[in-house]
Amino acid sequence: MDFSSARKSMVEYQLRARGIQSEVVLQVIEKIPRHLFVPEKLQEYAYEDHPLSIGCGQTISQPYMVAIMTELLELKTSDRVLEVGTGSGYQTAVLAEIAQHVVSIERIKELAEKAEQRLMNLGYTNIKIVCGDGSLGYPPEAPYDAIIVTAGSPEVPESLKKQLNEGGRLIIPVGGSNLQVLLKIIKKGNDYRIEKHTSCIFVPLIGSEGWKNYGDN
Ligand code: SAH
Repeated sequence: MDFSSARKSMVEYQLRARGIQSEVVLQVIEKIPRHLFVPEKLQEYAYEDHPLSIGCGQTISQPYMVAIMTELLELKTSDRVLEVGTGSGYQTAVLAEIAQHVVSIERIKELAEKAEQRLMNLGYTNIKIVCGDGSLGYPPEAPYDAIIVTAGSPEVPESLKKQLNEGGRLIIPVGGSNLQVLLKIIKKGNDYRIEKHTSCIFVPLIGSEGWKNYGDN
């Protein structure tokens, strides 16, 4: 299979045609070998328009969702970023291509370790993977210019808001366990401006400031 041309089509027809405008975001997605972030037997579907299973009951997000969330973050090359929900590490790679430093936190050890190995093999040196409850953020490296949560939360965790730098942006899916809306929160002095964006469906953010005692997890 010709992964490189599949990737080009994905960028043109699933992303640019649907309104993704940031050239940086489009270029980075065209560059990163997304098929290396999914199980081998699913590689041929890696450039299709939907999420895919990555094991442990979790998914790699739909490419369009990765693009829209990254665009909303408005990253600068000097930014320090926190990602909550490493999963496959694909979104982490997208962030690391644009920003200066990325901390990504994942609650499932097996996924965190696999993603760390994968990102190391691809040569990234500006990523730190942490295993833990990201609904509390990651205070040792706060504040962050941008925070992205790739799991759905019943509300916006206060800890994440507190870890935003002045002018910092937080993108998070908030709502019920079956449907959420993408919120963008911008810290301005002591205030937080909130914008509502598209509706979406993410796996649950499980933790102290997310869904507590979700299922048997
Ligand atoms: N960005 C990922 C999406 C993975 S799905 C990718 O591109 O592949 C969301 C991930 O969030 C899952 O791996 C899940 O285990 C993780 N997660 C859920 N609750 C979490 C929490 N409180 N802290 C850290 N990770 C969490």
